[in-house]
Amino acid sequence: MKELILVSNRLPVTVEMRKESIQFVKSVGGLATGLSSLYQKYNSVWIGWCGVPAERLDHQEKEEIEKTLLKDHSSYSTFLSRNDVKMYYQGFCNKTIWPLFHYFTECAVYDQGMWESYIHVNKLFSHTIMKIAKPGDIIWIHDYHLMLLPKMIRKKIPDVTIGFFLHIPFPSFEVFRLLPWGKETLEGLLGADLIGFHTFDYVRHFLSSVRRILGYDQTLGQTSVDARTVKIDAFPMGIDFEKFHSASRLPETIKEIKSIRNRIKDRKVILSVDRLDYTKGILHRLEAFDYFLKKYPEYKSKVTLILVAVPSRTGVETYIHLKRRVDEVVGAINGRYGAIDWTPILYFYRSFPFHALSAFYHVADVALVTPLRDGMNLIAKEYIAAKSGSHGAIVLSETAGAACELNGAIIVNPNDREEVAEAIHNALTMPEREQRERIHGMQLRLKRYDVVSWANDFMERLKDIKNLQVNLMGKKITGPTQQRIQDEYIKSNARLIFLDYDGTLVPFAPTPDGARPDRDVLQILRALSQDPCNEIVLISGRERKTLEKWFGKLNIGLIAEHGVWLKPISKDWSTIGPLRQDWKEKIRHLLEHYVDRTPGSLLEEKDYSLVWHYRQTDHDLAQIRVQELKDAFIQMAENLNLEIMDGNKVLEIKSAGINKGVAALRWIRHRPWDFILAIGDDITDENIFSVLPDAAFSIKVGLQPSLAKFFLESFREVRLLLKKLYKNQKEA
Ligand code: UDP
Repeated sequence: MKELILVSNRLPVTVEMRKESIQFVKSVGGLATGLSSLYQKYNSVWIGWCGVPAERLDHQEKEEIEKTLLKDHSSYSTFLSRNDVKMYYQGFCNKTIWPLFHYFTECAVYDQGMWESYIHVNKLFSHTIMKIAKPGDIIWIHDYHLMLLPKMIRKKIPDVTIGFFLHIPFPSFEVFRLLPWGKETLEGLLGADLIGFHTFDYVRHFLSSVRRILGYDQTLGQTSVDARTVKIDAFPMGIDFEKFHSASRLPETIKEIKSIRNRIKDRKVILSVDRLDYTKGILHRLEAFDYFLKKYPEYKSKVTLILVAVPSRTGVETYIHLKRRVDEVVGAINGRYGAIDWTPILYFYRSFPFHALSAFYHVADVALVTPLRDGMNLIAKEYIAAKSGSHGAIVLSETAGAACELNGAIIVNPNDREEVAEAIHNALTMPEREQRERIHGMQLRLKRYDVVSWANDFMERLKDIKNLQVNLMGKKITGPTQQRIQDEYIKSNARLIFLDYDGTLVPFAPTPDGARPDRDVLQILRALSQDPCNEIVLISGRERKTLEKWFGKLNIGLIAEHGVWLKPISKDWSTIGPLRQDWKEKIRHLLEHYVDRTPGSLLEEKDYSLVWHYRQTDHDLAQIRVQELKDAFIQMAENLNLEIMDGNKVLEIKSAGINKGVAALRWIRHRPWDFILAIGDDITDENIFSVLPDAAFSIKVGLQPSLAKFFLESFREVRLLLKKLYKNQKEA
């Protein structure tokens, strides 16, 4: 069986130091349930903090904890000091990341000491992992406490498979950019092979931050980091559906249901359950309930709001303040509307065990789930699942991740007091049949994609991305392939070498003019072309004037404008066939219009083509403009025999049927060759790869799907390979 290492801030077992013994209390949370299903398929261990500050443990106690955790719970603990807990957990995690990622920017604290503690604790986790991890293992890291960990592990064991799942929202770029350590955080996460979020919105936000802060391009939710493909995707976490669905049949739950019924009689029940956290919108919810009673006085004495606020982060000032406000507002509402025989809000500041919670779910006519921001919100899902035989309706925030899935809920803006009050009224008056239909529809989804399917789905996708990496990496040129290319090169007498220029021999520059050839690249071309057995052909999208200016003195062939112009060695330029230019006037107007409308873009005019460059344009704007421009082009270019071609941050409009492949083929057919090599990085170079004979060597620059047989990571590697070819030749 394969090794699986699960990592989270807390272990699914908490250590409690009692006077006479050390107790190990298992947690029964949803995550633990979902992940425990993986224990049957993998040899699994769990790494996390056991909950006791290191200072409280002597050497013997620490050993005992380590032994029992391993023996009875397949777990390893990291040991955090009191200062770690204060600066990392209560500090950076809960005073910086938690508020920022939930859009409470005004609550976020940016403190260098806390950040350093976050790095320190992530390192502690990586040390614990290093004790047991080995190449080939799978490591699944959970949540915002450990965002630097993937990169730390990757550095130490490159061959490990790493998954990361974020259980809270990932905020939009405009919010994320406020984090002074955003770059390091993104780089930390990108050490993983698969990064999962609850919703597609969070995926979008993450990708946009990666693009804007790190400048990494991406296609179909994939980006590449040091030639390793990383996949980013949505996996909405499910719950243990059957457990909640069957709960109302258990004797303990039946007892609880009776006791609640005794207390509230035949009144309608509205249920609100959350940790007492400012993200949950409890005060806004109370205001909406207040407004509801004012607007619909006929519900006085007919409805009870059961408000469960579970104590959370009780030592933190913001939370103490919030608790005080909730106490006051509940008191005010009960004081204002209450009667001798009716308390509008039954308020509990405590947590309830499973049976009691299930009983609440069962009796509640309406679940009022209106967080201001919530990564997922499991209460909403549990409430729906628990409805077996009883009806109910749910009012749900559009800003909770669960809203993407629970399409039978009444969706509200939690800040809109009137809308929430109206939704409560709609929920209370919704016909029972409609309630049952909506619940049934939502249950089908929750049953199918429960927490076990969620965990398995994540693991399957993790395997897929690993396979994709292996396939792509299989094409990377390593020692033996390089040797083969060199051997073939030395053996041959008639060699044809096609080299793309931008992105292949030199890096991209912000403007076309910026990427002039340096001395090194000119030297490589000169050295290669001095060998009489070689015919070097620079095959570029650039216009011929530029190629002539930069390379005219070299003894090499040139192909310009993606195959429009050809210049055989020591001969003059000629076009590949008769071409027209009379379309340019009309299309130029179109492109100029797009330059005006799109900051950062520019127009380049070549002899037989027009190019719209958008390298320096905002990515999202460019995506829209590219689509618009293509649509406008199709309408305008009818009967002109033109085509529009996607390049690297460019759109090029030119005569149809001409491309680098057609030009390359003409060169190949010119005479017999016993060695052909083509190197390129762009989509337009795929046309060359597609016309090469079987025996030719084709190399794509960059880790992307390609027709090429091999790939190299960057222009630097291309230069190295070319240097080896002519140096070896000399030595041979
Ligand atoms: N919960 C509980 N007892 C309570 C209240 C809540 O066990 O008295 C559990 C509930 O079943 C749910 C979790 O706490 O699984 C809350 O998860 P959610 O995603 O709604 O919020 P979070 O606390 O993770 O922000």
